[in-house]
Amino acid sequence: MEPGQALAAPSPAERTIEAEPRLTSARVLLVEDDPGFASLVEQMLRGADMGVKSVGLLAAARAHLREAEVDCVLLDLSLPDARWLEGVEALRDAAPELPLVVLSGLDDETVAVQAVQRGAQDYLVKGHVNGHIVSRAIRYSIERKRTELALAHLAHHDGLTGLPNRALFIDRLECALARTERRPSCVATMFVDLDRFKEVNDALGHEAGDELLCEISRRIQSVLRPSDTVARFGGDEFLVLAEHVGGEPGATVLASRICDVVAQPVEIGEREVLVTASVGVALARSPLPVDDLIRDADDAMYRAKQGGGGYEVYDELKEVLRGTGAPDFAHAGQLRAFKRLETANDLRRALEREELRLYYQPLVELPSGRVTGAEALLRWEHPERGLVGPDDFIPLAEETGLIVPIGQWVLETACRQAARWSATAHPGADPPVVSVNLAPRQLAEPGLTDGVSKALALAGLPAASLCLELTESTVAGRSDGVIEMLKALKAIGVSLSLDDFGTGYSSLAALDEYPVDAVKIDRSFVGRLDDPERRDVFAAVLAVAHALHLVAVAEGVEEPRQLSTVRRLGCDAAQGNLFAPAGPVKAIEPLMQRAVSGR
Ligand code: C2E
Ligand code: CA
Ligand code: CA
Repeated sequence: MEPGQALAAPSPAERTIEAEPRLTSARVLLVEDDPGFASLVEQMLRGADMGVKSVGLLAAARAHLREAEVDCVLLDLSLPDARWLEGVEALRDAAPELPLVVLSGLDDETVAVQAVQRGAQDYLVKGHVNGHIVSRAIRYSIERKRTELALAHLAHHDGLTGLPNRALFIDRLECALARTERRPSCVATMFVDLDRFKEVNDALGHEAGDELLCEISRRIQSVLRPSDTVARFGGDEFLVLAEHVGGEPGATVLASRICDVVAQPVEIGEREVLVTASVGVALARSPLPVDDLIRDADDAMYRAKQGGGGYEVYDELKEVLRGTGAPDFAHAGQLRAFKRLETANDLRRALEREELRLYYQPLVELPSGRVTGAEALLRWEHPERGLVGPDDFIPLAEETGLIVPIGQWVLETACRQAARWSATAHPGADPPVVSVNLAPRQLAEPGLTDGVSKALALAGLPAASLCLELTESTVAGRSDGVIEMLKALKAIGVSLSLDDFGTGYSSLAALDEYPVDAVKIDRSFVGRLDDPERRDVFAAVLAVAHALHLVAVAEGVEEPRQLSTVRRLGCDAAQGNLFAPAGPVKAIEPLMQRAVSGR
């Protein structure tokens, strides 16, 4: 609810005196478990032209707020399902923009102050009220809340364009970066600076300049998703925050769209004005300091401007290489860049030095509980840093292209291991299947099919014993080339699995086109199965998989309860720490022995 929307729409006559609002009616929700007192309040307020809805429980109040419009809540402090100030806090969380007046039997100044500190607008004592006092408190509270919201809006928005300001942008960027710890994502920060804005401003005047800035901000917003943020940073500078941009390729598409919309002629009065933008992009996949990111984006924008406009992506490696001699780490970004360069060099050597390892995690068929295979998961045994997980070096391997030789090593090593397991398999048992993750970059390599065939041949492994996993985002929205590649892989005889299913953006129609055999439902769905709503979501994702005749695998099963839920919902297989965490061959050998013995 926006400030000002809280009240019944004013009549035209009232609208003219907006500065001094005359309230005629308000919808009040009374939360009071004493029916006698509730009807007394209802009577008091009827004379004041207020509609009252009474409920006796906090839970009922929350349910009502979800369904109906309310202008103010009157809350009793002793309810069967909320003691003390719990009710104030619960309603504050449920409807942060709703005015709230406490109506309590307790005449205690300390409690009153606490109630206000926790978000109530006023505190009335039951024995000391009449219709006039209650209705006035309600009206004042509505006005106070409205003012509070308007002030909060002012503090966080730019007066001219109404866009978020610098402070709000930084806050949102911090939140977006923090989220990357829970869920891998690429966050783009873009610095947008208009070219030649000063000329327009000088030639046409400030009013025209203001109009231009407003139009430009609307245009930038029009190419963003609703969840993205564009902020005015001052003058003719804007900042854009976009989450889940799909790495550098996605970010550059967005940057070029911004350049395109800005470059369209703008009509101001009788004139057509032309401006262009220079855009600098900085990408982050972890919680880096926001100041560094904004400065990186600014640096990149400056480079774009020097190059005559358009966009540039900040590249740490290039920044360091651009400097001559030893880097002096003028700022933290450079130190970071140098570290990455070091990592890139180390990674290049990791293959030669045989520092890479494959861990395996068993895959369990449901409902039988039979182990049918294992997923190969890459680790780097770094001489100084110890065991490094894939999330910490695969992005860099992708960017530098090192993922191609590393990926080939993974394929060959995993196939050899699968052949070893198959060799010990019981004659009647199905040989275990090894799953290997493919990075987007590998899928774009024309040599991939040859690489896969080579790995199978070197190990003497039948193609049916190899499954390749690709993430939904790798295939979603990609060119026909990727589908062709998937078909070529299928032609070799390997199976294909769509990883992290449910986190990408594939449309159902597109899903049907991918020649995949299985989907692995992302562990974020499995982690929240206790919540009935999340369980429904999981069931829906499962239904999609089954409607497309795909085998559905639940990832990240950690608890027996999760296992029984996914089994009951009809998942075909599961994987997770409950059965075994990813570990070296030796650690999972007992489970794999069960697999090869056909039990
Ligand atoms: P993924 O393919 O989704 O792999 C599953 C990840 O979830 C693994 O993390 C695994 O250890 C972890 N996991 C499994 N069960 C549980 C559980 O019950 N609870 C929790 N919290 N986690 C569980 P890992 O090994 O760190 O791998 C992370 C990601 O790195 C993989 O996600 C995959 O996308 C990528 N990756 C791993 N190995 C390779 C590789 O050889 N090539 C490529 N391109 N990517 C790889
Ligand atoms: Ca996987
Ligand atoms: Ca996965």
